[in-house]
Amino acid sequence: MQLLPQSDQDDLDERMMRSAMVEARAAEAAGEVPVGAVVIAPDGKTILGRGQNRVLRDSDPTAHAEIIAMREAGRALSNYRLLTPEGGCSLYVTLEPCAMCASAILHARISRLLYAADDPKAGACGSVLEVLNHPQLNHRAAVRTGLLAEECSRMLSNFFLTRRGKKRIDPHPMDVEEALLGGSDGDEEEVVRKG
Ligand SMILES: [Zn+2]
Repeated sequence: MQLLPQSDQDDLDERMMRSAMVEARAAEAAGEVPVGAVVIAPDGKTILGRGQNRVLRDSDPTAHAEIIAMREAGRALSNYRLLTPEGGCSLYVTLEPCAMCASAILHARISRLLYAADDPKAGACGSVLEVLNHPQLNHRAAVRTGLLAEECSRMLSNFFLTRRGKKRIDPHPMDVEEALLGGSDGDEEEVVRKG
């Protein structure tokens, strides 16, 4: 992986997270919970895969943004391990990965994971479970959290508030944790009713 001065790396990280946010907004426009992800090549700037949450559209419980992005990157590299001669790839995602996605990140040998908002209900990178960098699993990934977290959390909070017919909060974020907890429950109920 290319080593950059910290300020350049920060700029690049923010740019890539904004690409993930574009995917999240597209998911929201399609009525899905707004989560987006991108997989970036070891050069730090080439997008190998983009993904947005599409579980409802595809009737697919595995169609999380990270899975979609890693699948696309795997096809781009013709390798289920997202490895290149230059090194491993980075995954940027707007919400802390769940256990399924964290496990897929291990299988893909992602070398660097960056996520924005914590997911206190299902996060598997420290919030609920610790799947990444588990002492008994052999793959290690560098993890950076909190990048653009406020914006990504607000996007999720607003989505759930809108779905429940409440006024969107702008520009001040409410208690994101509560919004996520309440929102996720509402989401599940709605899915059950639809089914
Ligand atoms: Zn997931």
